[in-house]
Amino acid sequence: METTIDRRDLLKGAAATMGAAAMGIGAASALAEEAEAFSCEPAEVMDCDIVVCGTGIAGMAAIVQAAQNGANVIALEAASAPGGNGALIGGCFAHDSSLQREQGIDFDFPSIIENEMKATAYRVDGRLWKNLYDNSGANLDWLIENGVKFSGQVDDYGTGGIKSMHYFEGRGGGGYITPMVAKAEELGVSFVYEAKAEHPVVKDGKIAGVYAQRADGSWLQVNAKAVILATGGYGADTKMVARIGYNPDNLWYFGVPTNDGGGWRIAMEMGAKDFSYHSADNAHAYIRAMPHERPDQMPNCGLSMCGYLVWINQDCKRFVREDCGMSNFCQQNPPRWNQKEWYFIFDTEQYKAACPMYGVDPEEGMQIMKESLETNEGDCLYSADTIEELAAFFGLDAEALVAEVEKYNKYCEQGFDEDWCKDPMFMMPIANPPYYITKPETLFLMTIGAVFTDINGQALDENNDPIPGLYAIGVDGCMLYRNVYTIDVPASCCGNSVNMGRNSANHACANL
Ligand SMILES: Cc1cc2nc3c(=O)[nH]c(=O)nc-3n(C[C@H](O)[C@H](O)[C@H](O)COP(=O)(O)OP(=O)(O)OC[C@H]3O[C@@H](n4cnc5c(N)ncnc54)[C@H](O)[C@@H]3O)c2cc1C
Repeated sequence: METTIDRRDLLKGAAATMGAAAMGIGAASALAEEAEAFSCEPAEVMDCDIVVCGTGIAGMAAIVQAAQNGANVIALEAASAPGGNGALIGGCFAHDSSLQREQGIDFDFPSIIENEMKATAYRVDGRLWKNLYDNSGANLDWLIENGVKFSGQVDDYGTGGIKSMHYFEGRGGGGYITPMVAKAEELGVSFVYEAKAEHPVVKDGKIAGVYAQRADGSWLQVNAKAVILATGGYGADTKMVARIGYNPDNLWYFGVPTNDGGGWRIAMEMGAKDFSYHSADNAHAYIRAMPHERPDQMPNCGLSMCGYLVWINQDCKRFVREDCGMSNFCQQNPPRWNQKEWYFIFDTEQYKAACPMYGVDPEEGMQIMKESLETNEGDCLYSADTIEELAAFFGLDAEALVAEVEKYNKYCEQGFDEDWCKDPMFMMPIANPPYYITKPETLFLMTIGAVFTDINGQALDENNDPIPGLYAIGVDGCMLYRNVYTIDVPASCCGNSVNMGRNSANHACANL
Protein backbone atom coordinates (compact mmCIF):
# COMPACT_ATOMS: atom_id res chain seq x y z
CA MET A 1 0.00 0.00 0.00
CA GLU A 2 1.59 3.24 -1.20
CA THR A 3 1.12 6.17 1.17
CA THR A 4 2.14 9.64 0.20
CA ILE A 5 1.75 12.67 2.36
CA ASP A 6 -0.81 14.67 0.46
CA ARG A 7 0.78 17.87 -0.78
CA ARG A 8 -2.31 19.98 -0.01
CA ASP A 9 -2.63 18.42 3.46
CA LEU A 10 0.93 19.19 4.22
CA LEU A 11 0.77 22.69 2.91
CA LYS A 12 -2.17 23.37 5.20
CA GLY A 13 -0.34 21.88 8.15
CA ALA A 14 2.87 23.66 7.32
CA ALA A 15 1.42 27.05 6.46
CA ALA A 16 3.03 28.61 9.47
CA THR A 17 6.32 26.97 8.58
CA MET A 18 6.20 28.65 5.23
CA GLY A 19 5.58 31.89 7.11
CA ALA A 20 8.76 31.18 8.98
CA ALA A 21 10.58 30.69 5.71
CA ALA A 22 9.38 34.09 4.57
CA MET A 23 10.93 35.48 7.72
CA GLY A 24 14.21 33.92 6.71
CA ILE A 25 14.03 30.89 9.00
CA GLY A 26 15.33 28.35 6.54
CA ALA A 27 15.55 25.09 8.48
CA ALA A 28 11.84 24.75 9.01
CA SER A 29 10.95 25.46 5.40
CA ALA A 30 13.52 22.98 4.14
CA LEU A 31 11.99 20.37 6.41
CA ALA A 32 8.50 21.16 5.24
CA GLU A 33 9.70 20.63 1.67
CA GLU A 34 11.32 17.36 2.67
CA ALA A 35 8.03 16.22 4.18
CA GLU A 36 6.25 17.27 1.03
CA ALA A 37 8.47 15.04 -1.02
CA PHE A 38 8.24 12.14 1.40
CA SER A 39 6.36 9.04 0.41
CA CYS A 40 6.64 5.46 1.54
CA GLU A 41 5.08 2.07 1.31
CA PRO A 42 4.56 1.02 4.92
CA ALA A 43 5.29 -2.61 5.66
CA GLU A 44 2.95 -2.35 8.63
CA VAL A 45 0.15 -0.05 9.80
CA MET A 46 -0.93 0.26 13.44
CA ASP A 47 -3.72 2.29 15.02
CA CYS A 48 -3.98 3.80 18.49
CA ASP A 49 -5.29 6.79 20.42
CA ILE A 50 -1.88 8.19 21.31
CA VAL A 51 1.54 7.45 19.87
CA VAL A 52 4.48 8.44 22.06
CA CYS A 53 7.84 8.76 20.26
CA GLY A 54 10.70 8.09 22.69
CA THR A 55 10.81 6.04 25.87
CA GLY A 56 13.11 8.13 28.06
CA ILE A 57 12.07 10.08 31.15
CA ALA A 58 9.38 12.23 29.51
CA GLY A 59 8.07 9.56 27.16
CA MET A 60 7.63 6.99 29.93
CA ALA A 61 5.74 9.47 32.15
CA ALA A 62 3.41 10.28 29.23
CA ILE A 63 2.97 6.61 28.32
CA VAL A 64 2.06 5.46 31.83
CA GLN A 65 -0.21 8.45 32.49
CA ALA A 66 -2.07 8.10 29.18
CA ALA A 67 -2.52 4.35 29.67
CA GLN A 68 -3.79 4.93 33.21
CA ASN A 69 -6.29 7.40 31.77
CA GLY A 70 -7.61 4.56 29.60
CA ALA A 71 -6.00 5.53 26.27
CA ASN A 72 -4.78 2.96 23.79
CA VAL A 73 -1.05 3.82 23.57
CA ILE A 74 1.74 2.79 21.21
CA ALA A 75 5.32 3.62 22.24
CA LEU A 76 7.94 3.96 19.49
CA GLU A 77 11.61 3.81 20.42
CA ALA A 78 14.47 4.40 17.99
CA ALA A 79 16.93 2.31 19.99
CA SER A 80 16.76 -1.41 20.70
CA ALA A 81 16.02 -0.74 24.38
CA PRO A 82 14.13 1.93 26.33
CA GLY A 83 15.64 4.75 28.36
CA GLY A 84 17.73 7.10 26.25
CA ASN A 85 19.72 9.58 28.31
CA GLY A 86 17.14 8.92 31.00
CA ALA A 87 18.89 5.63 31.77
CA LEU A 88 22.10 7.52 32.63
CA ILE A 89 20.73 10.14 34.98
CA GLY A 90 21.10 10.50 38.72
CA GLY A 91 17.92 12.02 40.06
CA CYS A 92 14.72 14.03 39.85
CA PHE A 93 13.57 17.42 41.14
CA ALA A 94 10.57 17.74 43.44
CA HIS A 95 9.19 20.05 46.08
CA ASP A 96 6.96 18.74 48.88
CA SER A 97 7.42 15.07 48.05
CA SER A 98 6.72 12.44 50.70
CA LEU A 99 10.49 11.82 50.94
CA GLN A 100 11.12 15.51 51.64
CA ARG A 101 8.33 15.68 54.19
CA GLU A 102 9.76 12.63 56.01
CA GLN A 103 13.17 14.34 56.12
CA GLY A 104 11.86 17.78 57.10
CA ILE A 105 13.06 19.36 53.84
CA ASP A 106 11.25 22.45 52.59
CA PHE A 107 12.19 25.53 50.60
CA ASP A 108 10.68 28.72 49.36
CA PHE A 109 10.19 28.60 45.61
CA PRO A 110 8.89 32.04 44.52
CA SER A 111 12.31 33.56 45.14
CA ILE A 112 13.86 30.72 43.14
CA ILE A 113 11.53 31.37 40.21
CA GLU A 114 12.54 35.02 40.38
CA ASN A 115 16.23 33.99 40.28
CA GLU A 116 15.60 31.78 37.26
CA MET A 117 13.76 34.56 35.47
CA LYS A 118 16.49 37.07 36.26
CA ALA A 119 19.17 34.64 35.11
CA THR A 120 17.45 34.46 31.72
CA ALA A 121 16.70 38.20 31.48
CA TYR A 122 12.99 37.41 32.03
CA ARG A 123 12.79 35.49 28.77
CA VAL A 124 11.35 32.33 30.35
CA ASP A 125 7.69 31.93 31.13
CA GLY A 126 7.59 31.82 34.94
CA ARG A 127 4.28 29.92 34.80
CA LEU A 128 6.20 26.89 33.58
CA TRP A 129 8.36 26.96 36.71
CA LYS A 130 5.31 27.52 38.89
CA ASN A 131 3.48 24.62 37.28
CA LEU A 132 6.50 22.38 37.87
CA TYR A 133 6.75 23.55 41.48
CA ASP A 134 3.03 23.00 42.13
CA ASN A 135 2.92 19.50 40.62
CA SER A 136 6.36 18.11 41.39
CA GLY A 137 5.69 16.67 44.85
CA ALA A 138 2.62 14.82 43.62
CA ASN A 139 4.54 13.73 40.50
CA LEU A 140 7.27 12.19 42.62
CA ASP A 141 4.77 10.34 44.79
CA TRP A 142 3.00 9.15 41.62
CA LEU A 143 6.31 7.75 40.37
CA ILE A 144 6.79 5.88 43.65
CA GLU A 145 3.24 4.49 43.41
CA ASN A 146 4.11 3.23 39.93
CA GLY A 147 7.17 1.38 41.14
CA VAL A 148 9.95 3.93 40.55
CA LYS A 149 12.73 3.34 43.05
CA PHE A 150 14.47 6.17 44.89
CA SER A 151 17.41 5.59 47.20
CA GLY A 152 15.93 7.91 49.85
CA GLN A 153 18.79 10.40 49.54
CA VAL A 154 17.51 13.91 48.88
CA ASP A 155 20.03 16.75 48.73
CA ASP A 156 21.25 19.92 47.02
CA TYR A 157 23.46 18.02 44.53
CA GLY A 158 26.46 19.86 45.93
CA THR A 159 25.16 23.26 44.81
CA GLY A 160 24.76 24.67 48.31
CA GLY A 161 21.19 25.56 47.29
CA ILE A 162 17.83 23.86 47.63
CA LYS A 163 17.46 20.18 48.44
CA SER A 164 15.39 19.10 45.46
CA MET A 165 17.52 16.25 44.07
CA HIS A 166 15.86 12.86 44.68
CA TYR A 167 18.37 10.15 43.73
CA PHE A 168 17.15 7.07 41.88
CA GLU A 169 18.17 3.67 43.14
CA GLY A 170 20.46 2.34 40.39
CA ARG A 171 20.38 5.61 38.39
CA GLY A 172 17.61 6.34 35.90
CA GLY A 173 17.89 2.99 34.12
CA GLY A 174 17.21 0.64 37.03
CA GLY A 175 15.34 3.12 39.20
CA TYR A 176 12.98 4.72 36.69
CA ILE A 177 12.96 3.18 33.22
CA THR A 178 12.70 -0.51 34.16
CA PRO A 179 9.75 -0.13 36.57
CA MET A 180 7.94 2.36 34.33
CA VAL A 181 8.21 0.04 31.31
CA ALA A 182 6.89 -2.83 33.48
CA LYS A 183 3.97 -0.65 34.61
CA ALA A 184 3.19 0.39 31.01
CA GLU A 185 3.26 -3.22 29.81
CA GLU A 186 0.95 -4.19 32.67
CA LEU A 187 -1.43 -1.47 31.42
CA GLY A 188 -1.36 -2.94 27.90
CA VAL A 189 0.94 -0.48 26.11
CA SER A 190 2.58 -1.82 22.93
CA PHE A 191 6.30 -1.01 22.62
CA VAL A 192 7.96 -1.05 19.21
CA TYR A 193 11.75 -0.86 19.41
CA GLU A 194 14.11 0.09 16.60
CA ALA A 195 11.31 2.23 15.21
CA LYS A 196 12.54 5.75 14.59
CA ALA A 197 9.76 8.28 14.15
CA GLU A 198 10.73 10.31 11.09
CA HIS A 199 7.71 12.03 9.51
CA PRO A 200 4.19 13.03 10.45
CA VAL A 201 1.14 11.32 9.00
CA VAL A 202 -0.99 14.29 7.90
CA LYS A 203 -4.73 14.16 7.19
CA ASP A 204 -6.84 17.23 6.45
CA GLY A 205 -3.90 19.41 7.39
CA LYS A 206 -3.68 17.89 10.87
CA ILE A 207 -1.23 15.47 12.37
CA ALA A 208 -2.73 12.00 12.40
CA GLY A 209 0.18 9.81 13.41
CA VAL A 210 3.78 9.18 12.45
CA TYR A 211 5.86 7.18 10.02
CA ALA A 212 8.69 5.35 11.72
CA GLN A 213 11.59 3.63 10.05
CA ARG A 214 12.55 0.18 11.29
CA ALA A 215 16.12 -1.13 11.59
CA ASP A 216 15.70 -3.09 8.32
CA GLY A 217 14.78 0.10 6.47
CA SER A 218 11.05 -0.71 6.23
CA TRP A 219 8.37 1.78 7.25
CA LEU A 220 5.78 1.51 9.97
CA GLN A 221 2.76 3.82 9.82
CA VAL A 222 1.12 4.51 13.19
CA ASN A 223 -2.22 6.27 12.97
CA ALA A 224 -3.10 8.18 16.14
CA LYS A 225 -5.38 10.93 17.41
CA ALA A 226 -2.47 12.55 19.24
CA VAL A 227 1.30 12.44 18.74
CA ILE A 228 3.61 13.05 21.70
CA LEU A 229 7.23 13.72 20.73
CA ALA A 230 9.68 12.82 23.50
CA THR A 231 12.81 12.17 21.47
CA GLY A 232 15.42 13.72 23.75
CA GLY A 233 16.55 16.78 21.78
CA TYR A 234 19.20 17.00 19.07
CA GLY A 235 22.54 16.62 20.90
CA ALA A 236 23.72 13.86 18.56
CA ASP A 237 23.38 16.09 15.51
CA THR A 238 26.68 17.98 15.47
CA LYS A 239 25.58 20.30 12.67
CA MET A 240 22.65 21.51 14.75
CA VAL A 241 24.82 21.73 17.85
CA ALA A 242 27.22 23.93 15.88
CA ARG A 243 24.42 26.49 15.57
CA ILE A 244 24.57 26.96 19.33
CA GLY A 245 28.20 28.03 18.97
CA TYR A 246 30.27 24.86 19.34
CA ASN A 247 32.88 23.70 16.87
CA PRO A 248 31.49 20.47 15.38
CA ASP A 249 35.02 19.27 14.55
CA ASN A 250 36.02 18.83 18.18
CA LEU A 251 32.80 17.78 19.82
CA TRP A 252 32.78 14.66 21.95
CA TYR A 253 29.14 13.66 22.39
CA PHE A 254 28.27 11.70 25.49
CA GLY A 255 24.48 11.24 25.17
CA VAL A 256 22.72 8.39 23.36
CA PRO A 257 23.20 8.46 19.57
CA THR A 258 19.46 8.27 18.88
CA ASN A 259 18.79 11.77 20.28
CA ASP A 260 19.45 13.44 16.94
CA GLY A 261 16.54 15.82 16.54
CA GLY A 262 13.92 13.39 15.17
CA GLY A 263 11.11 14.99 17.18
CA TRP A 264 12.24 18.50 16.24
CA ARG A 265 12.15 17.61 12.55
CA ILE A 266 8.62 16.19 12.78
CA ALA A 267 7.45 19.31 14.65
CA MET A 268 9.09 21.57 12.06
CA GLU A 269 7.39 19.62 9.29
CA MET A 270 4.08 20.41 11.01
CA GLY A 271 4.85 24.13 11.14
CA ALA A 272 5.89 24.35 14.79
CA LYS A 273 7.81 27.36 16.04
CA ASP A 274 11.53 26.65 16.25
CA PHE A 275 13.01 26.99 19.75
CA SER A 276 16.35 25.41 18.81
CA TYR A 277 18.01 28.83 18.54
CA HIS A 278 17.25 29.29 22.24
CA SER A 279 18.21 25.79 23.40
CA ALA A 280 20.16 25.42 26.58
CA ASP A 281 22.77 22.71 26.67
CA ASN A 282 24.95 20.74 29.02
CA ALA A 283 28.56 20.87 27.89
CA HIS A 284 32.02 20.94 29.42
CA ALA A 285 35.46 21.78 28.14
CA TYR A 286 37.31 18.52 27.85
CA ILE A 287 40.97 17.72 27.28
CA ARG A 288 41.33 14.60 25.18
CA ALA A 289 44.93 14.06 26.27
CA MET A 290 43.80 13.60 29.87
CA PRO A 291 41.87 10.58 31.24
CA HIS A 292 38.31 10.59 29.90
CA GLU A 293 36.81 7.15 30.26
CA ARG A 294 34.07 8.77 32.33
CA PRO A 295 32.69 12.20 31.43
CA ASP A 296 33.05 13.46 34.97
CA GLN A 297 36.66 12.30 35.28
CA MET A 298 38.97 14.75 37.01
CA PRO A 299 41.26 16.44 36.45
CA ASN A 300 39.79 17.08 33.05
CA CYS A 301 36.45 18.84 32.78
CA GLY A 302 37.22 20.28 36.21
CA LEU A 303 40.11 22.30 34.82
CA SER A 304 37.76 24.59 32.95
CA MET A 305 35.63 25.06 36.04
CA CYS A 306 38.29 25.57 38.69
CA GLY A 307 38.72 29.32 38.11
CA TYR A 308 42.54 29.30 38.38
CA LEU A 309 43.52 28.81 34.75
CA VAL A 310 43.96 31.60 32.21
CA TRP A 311 41.79 31.42 29.08
CA ILE A 312 42.91 33.06 25.88
CA ASN A 313 41.53 33.26 22.36
CA GLN A 314 43.22 32.97 18.98
CA ASP A 315 44.76 36.45 19.45
CA CYS A 316 46.21 35.53 22.87
CA LYS A 317 43.65 37.79 24.58
CA ARG A 318 41.68 36.93 27.70
CA PHE A 319 37.95 37.45 27.07
CA VAL A 320 36.09 36.78 30.34
CA ARG A 321 36.71 36.12 34.02
CA GLU A 322 37.79 32.49 34.14
CA ASP A 323 35.81 31.80 37.32
CA CYS A 324 32.52 32.43 35.47
CA GLY A 325 31.63 28.73 35.65
CA MET A 326 32.15 28.37 39.39
CA SER A 327 28.50 28.74 40.40
CA ASN A 328 27.11 27.13 37.25
CA PHE A 329 29.52 25.24 35.00
CA CYS A 330 27.26 25.85 31.97
CA GLN A 331 28.15 29.54 32.16
CA GLN A 332 31.69 28.73 31.05
CA ASN A 333 30.40 28.06 27.54
CA PRO A 334 28.72 31.18 26.09
CA PRO A 335 31.83 33.41 26.30
CA ARG A 336 33.74 30.99 24.07
CA TRP A 337 30.97 30.90 21.47
CA ASN A 338 32.16 34.40 20.59
CA GLN A 339 35.79 33.36 20.03
CA LYS A 340 37.32 31.49 17.13
CA GLU A 341 39.60 29.44 19.38
CA TRP A 342 39.89 28.77 23.10
CA TYR A 343 43.10 27.78 24.94
CA PHE A 344 44.00 27.28 28.60
CA ILE A 345 47.36 28.50 29.90
CA PHE A 346 48.49 27.50 33.37
CA ASP A 347 51.48 26.67 35.51
CA THR A 348 52.27 23.88 37.92
CA GLU A 349 50.94 25.67 41.00
CA GLN A 350 47.60 26.51 39.40
CA TYR A 351 47.21 22.91 38.29
CA LYS A 352 48.07 21.60 41.76
CA ALA A 353 45.58 24.02 43.32
CA ALA A 354 42.85 22.79 40.97
CA CYS A 355 43.32 19.05 41.62
CA PRO A 356 41.91 18.87 45.19
CA MET A 357 38.83 20.86 44.15
CA TYR A 358 37.81 17.74 42.25
CA GLY A 359 39.01 15.11 44.70
CA VAL A 360 42.45 14.46 43.16
CA ASP A 361 45.58 14.59 45.29
CA PRO A 362 48.06 17.09 43.71
CA GLU A 363 50.88 14.49 43.51
CA GLU A 364 48.54 12.03 41.83
CA GLY A 365 47.49 14.91 39.58
CA MET A 366 51.12 15.52 38.58
CA GLN A 367 51.50 11.84 37.68
CA ILE A 368 48.33 12.06 35.55
CA MET A 369 49.78 15.15 33.87
CA LYS A 370 53.07 13.39 33.14
CA GLU A 371 51.32 10.42 31.54
CA SER A 372 48.91 12.66 29.63
CA LEU A 373 51.78 14.66 28.14
CA GLU A 374 53.51 11.45 27.07
CA THR A 375 50.53 9.96 25.24
CA ASN A 376 49.02 13.33 24.26
CA GLU A 377 45.90 11.90 22.61
CA GLY A 378 44.52 14.50 20.21
CA ASP A 379 47.80 16.48 20.23
CA CYS A 380 46.22 19.04 22.50
CA LEU A 381 48.40 19.30 25.64
CA TYR A 382 51.96 20.61 25.87
CA SER A 383 54.37 21.89 28.49
CA ALA A 384 57.42 24.15 28.26
CA ASP A 385 59.69 26.23 30.44
CA THR A 386 58.95 29.50 28.67
CA ILE A 387 55.75 31.21 27.52
CA GLU A 388 57.27 31.76 24.06
CA GLU A 389 57.65 28.01 23.64
CA LEU A 390 54.04 27.46 24.71
CA ALA A 391 52.85 29.80 21.97
CA ALA A 392 54.78 27.86 19.32
CA PHE A 393 52.84 24.62 19.91
CA PHE A 394 49.69 26.16 18.44
CA GLY A 395 51.27 28.74 16.16
CA LEU A 396 50.20 31.60 18.43
CA ASP A 397 51.85 35.03 18.50
CA ALA A 398 54.58 34.59 21.17
CA GLU A 399 54.95 38.31 21.82
CA ALA A 400 51.21 38.75 22.32
CA LEU A 401 51.05 35.77 24.66
CA VAL A 402 53.97 36.99 26.77
CA ALA A 403 52.34 40.44 27.02
CA GLU A 404 48.98 38.97 28.11
CA VAL A 405 50.62 36.72 30.72
CA GLU A 406 52.67 39.62 32.09
CA LYS A 407 49.53 41.74 32.38
CA TYR A 408 47.68 38.93 34.14
CA ASN A 409 50.58 38.42 36.55
CA LYS A 410 50.51 42.15 37.35
CA TYR A 411 46.78 41.89 38.15
CA CYS A 412 47.52 38.93 40.43
CA GLU A 413 50.18 40.92 42.24
CA GLN A 414 47.90 43.93 42.78
CA GLY A 415 44.95 41.68 43.70
CA PHE A 416 42.59 43.22 41.16
CA ASP A 417 41.75 42.03 37.66
CA GLU A 418 41.43 45.30 35.78
CA ASP A 419 40.12 43.59 32.66
CA TRP A 420 37.52 41.07 33.83
CA CYS A 421 37.05 41.38 37.62
CA LYS A 422 38.00 37.79 38.38
CA ASP A 423 37.67 36.95 42.06
CA PRO A 424 41.13 37.53 43.62
CA MET A 425 40.88 34.15 45.37
CA PHE A 426 41.36 32.47 41.98
CA MET A 427 44.16 34.72 40.80
CA MET A 428 47.51 32.95 40.87
CA PRO A 429 50.34 34.22 38.64
CA ILE A 430 51.69 32.08 35.83
CA ALA A 431 55.15 32.01 37.34
CA ASN A 432 56.15 28.43 38.18
CA PRO A 433 57.42 26.37 35.26
CA PRO A 434 56.82 24.04 33.67
CA TYR A 435 53.99 25.95 32.01
CA TYR A 436 51.16 24.24 30.17
CA ILE A 437 48.94 24.99 27.22
CA THR A 438 45.95 23.02 26.02
CA LYS A 439 43.27 23.45 23.42
CA PRO A 440 40.14 21.93 24.92
CA GLU A 441 37.46 20.14 22.99
CA THR A 442 33.80 19.97 24.00
CA LEU A 443 32.13 17.21 25.96
CA PHE A 444 28.51 17.54 24.95
CA LEU A 445 25.73 15.83 26.91
CA MET A 446 22.42 17.09 25.58
CA THR A 447 20.32 19.95 24.32
CA ILE A 448 17.35 21.27 26.29
CA GLY A 449 14.47 22.81 24.36
CA ALA A 450 13.82 22.54 20.61
CA VAL A 451 10.16 23.40 19.95
CA PHE A 452 7.99 26.19 21.42
CA THR A 453 5.34 24.63 23.67
CA ASP A 454 2.63 25.63 26.11
CA ILE A 455 1.99 24.49 29.68
CA ASN A 456 0.35 21.28 28.38
CA GLY A 457 3.32 20.46 26.18
CA GLN A 458 1.37 21.31 23.02
CA ALA A 459 3.64 22.37 20.17
CA LEU A 460 2.95 25.97 19.15
CA ASP A 461 2.89 27.45 15.68
CA GLU A 462 4.42 30.76 14.61
CA ASN A 463 1.41 32.60 16.09
CA ASN A 464 1.84 30.84 19.44
CA ASP A 465 -1.34 28.85 18.80
CA PRO A 466 -1.31 25.14 19.71
CA ILE A 467 -1.03 22.70 16.82
CA PRO A 468 -3.93 20.32 17.49
CA GLY A 469 -2.85 16.83 18.44
CA LEU A 470 0.91 17.55 18.54
CA TYR A 471 2.97 17.63 21.73
CA ALA A 472 6.73 18.07 22.31
CA ILE A 473 7.83 17.14 25.82
CA GLY A 474 10.95 16.54 27.90
CA VAL A 475 13.99 18.19 26.37
CA ASP A 476 12.19 18.33 22.99
CA GLY A 477 9.82 20.94 24.42
CA CYS A 478 11.41 22.23 27.63
CA MET A 479 11.29 26.03 27.92
CA LEU A 480 12.48 26.45 31.50
CA TYR A 481 15.81 27.89 30.35
CA ARG A 482 17.05 30.10 27.54
CA ASN A 483 20.46 29.36 26.06
CA VAL A 484 22.05 28.54 29.44
CA TYR A 485 21.07 25.62 31.63
CA THR A 486 20.79 27.41 34.96
CA ILE A 487 21.41 24.29 37.14
CA ASP A 488 20.51 26.16 40.34
CA VAL A 489 17.42 24.00 40.78
CA PRO A 490 18.89 20.50 41.01
CA ALA A 491 17.40 17.92 38.61
CA SER A 492 14.75 20.31 37.28
CA CYS A 493 15.36 18.93 33.78
CA CYS A 494 14.15 15.47 34.84
CA GLY A 495 11.40 16.88 37.08
CA ASN A 496 10.15 18.92 34.13
CA SER A 497 10.23 15.89 31.83
CA VAL A 498 7.99 13.98 34.23
CA ASN A 499 5.69 16.99 34.60
CA MET A 500 5.43 17.59 30.85
CA GLY A 501 4.83 13.87 30.32
CA ARG A 502 1.88 13.85 32.68
CA ASN A 503 0.51 17.22 31.52
CA SER A 504 0.63 16.27 27.86
CA ALA A 505 -0.96 12.85 28.45
CA ASN A 506 -3.78 14.36 30.51
CA HIS A 507 -4.42 17.07 27.92
CA ALA A 508 -4.28 14.64 24.98
CA CYS A 509 -6.64 12.19 26.72
CA ALA A 510 -9.11 14.96 27.52
CA ASN A 511 -9.16 15.91 23.82
CA LEU A 512 -9.33 12.48 22.16
C1 LIG B 1 24.97 11.73 31.47
C2 LIG B 1 23.73 12.52 31.75
C3 LIG B 1 23.31 12.69 33.06
C4 LIG B 1 22.18 13.44 33.36
N1 LIG B 1 21.78 13.56 34.66
C5 LIG B 1 20.64 14.25 34.96
C6 LIG B 1 20.14 14.29 36.30
O1 LIG B 1 20.71 13.68 37.22
N2 LIG B 1 19.00 15.00 36.53
C7 LIG B 1 18.34 15.68 35.54
O2 LIG B 1 17.35 16.37 35.84
N3 LIG B 1 18.76 15.60 34.25
C8 LIG B 1 19.88 14.90 33.94
N4 LIG B 1 20.29 14.80 32.63
C9 LIG B 1 19.43 15.37 31.60
C10 LIG B 1 18.48 14.22 31.15
O3 LIG B 1 18.89 13.79 29.90
C11 LIG B 1 17.03 14.62 31.16
O4 LIG B 1 16.61 15.05 32.42
C12 LIG B 1 16.09 13.48 30.69
O5 LIG B 1 16.72 12.31 30.25
C13 LIG B 1 15.32 14.08 29.54
O6 LIG B 1 14.30 13.19 29.22
P1 LIG B 1 13.77 13.06 27.74
O7 LIG B 1 12.68 12.08 27.79
O8 LIG B 1 13.49 14.40 27.18
O9 LIG B 1 15.01 12.47 26.89
P2 LIG B 1 15.65 11.01 27.01
O10 LIG B 1 15.53 10.52 28.39
O11 LIG B 1 17.01 11.06 26.41
O12 LIG B 1 14.71 10.11 26.08
C14 LIG B 1 14.64 10.28 24.68
C15 LIG B 1 14.27 8.94 24.04
O13 LIG B 1 13.82 9.13 22.71
C16 LIG B 1 14.40 8.13 21.86
N5 LIG B 1 14.38 8.67 20.50
C17 LIG B 1 15.20 9.61 19.96
N6 LIG B 1 14.78 9.89 18.70
C18 LIG B 1 13.71 9.11 18.44
C19 LIG B 1 12.83 8.98 17.32
N7 LIG B 1 12.99 9.71 16.21
N8 LIG B 1 11.83 8.08 17.40
C20 LIG B 1 11.66 7.31 18.52
N9 LIG B 1 12.46 7.41 19.61
C21 LIG B 1 13.45 8.31 19.59
C22 LIG B 1 15.78 7.94 22.45
O14 LIG B 1 16.37 6.75 22.02
C23 LIG B 1 15.45 7.98 23.95
O15 LIG B 1 15.07 6.71 24.42
C24 LIG B 1 21.43 14.04 32.30
C25 LIG B 1 21.85 13.86 30.97
C26 LIG B 1 22.98 13.11 30.69
C27 LIG B 1 23.39 12.93 29.26
